[in-house]
Amino acid sequence: MRTLTAGDILQVWERAAQQPPVERALAMLGVACPELTPAQLAELDLGQRDARLWDLRALTFGTQLAAFAECPRCEQRLEFAFDVPALEPAASQPLLELATDAGTLQFRLPTSADLRAIADCGDLGQAQRALARRCLLPSCGLQSPDLQHGTPLPESIVFELAQHLQQHMPTAEITLAMECPACQHQWQSCLDVVSFLWGEIAAQARRLLREVHLLASAYGWREADILALSPVLRQAYLGMLS
Ligand SMILES: [Zn+2]
Repeated sequence: MRTLTAGDILQVWERAAQQPPVERALAMLGVACPELTPAQLAELDLGQRDARLWDLRALTFGTQLAAFAECPRCEQRLEFAFDVPALEPAASQPLLELATDAGTLQFRLPTSADLRAIADCGDLGQAQRALARRCLLPSCGLQSPDLQHGTPLPESIVFELAQHLQQHMPTAEITLAMECPACQHQWQSCLDVVSFLWGEIAAQARRLLREVHLLASAYGWREADILALSPVLRQAYLGMLS
């Protein structure tokens, strides 16, 4: 994995700005991880994907992370800072089991390829059923004669499986314990690395575009040459313009 250069950030932003989160995550990792093919990246489970995204965040923007949240009780705006968590990607594709009334289910963790496949589902319930069906292994020990391949899974099993999948993706979301300094309300806030890192990349891309615009207008330099300048030099030239 390598850090994203100024040119990479503009390229990723241009490629994925109109895309859903699953494609944004793959676009960011596609540039940062040239050692993996697009198909290999899409087959990483979401825990492995997100651990790599946190690594990419630390490489590109540093390990300090500043964010804000709004108190759900009094709407006070809280700013907070912490270090990017060091996450160990889980062993590749572990098989998980879930004991149900119909037998023991064996399933694997969802991947980006799974999320792509269910993107066209009309509603959340349909998406959960499709995801459960995809992640359930064919050799699973379901005993019920109703559970033939291709038949819809019973709602109770879909619900259990969805809960279980969520619990077994420990790196998919970072949960933060929050306390409001104004009203002392305590709650848990989830930090999704895909939307967080994408927000930073989009903000950085807009800053870079403004800098390219200013320097190109003043000196007539090409975009690629401006982006190839180190941040220190770019800021120095911008300082002379203002
Ligand atoms: Zn509050």
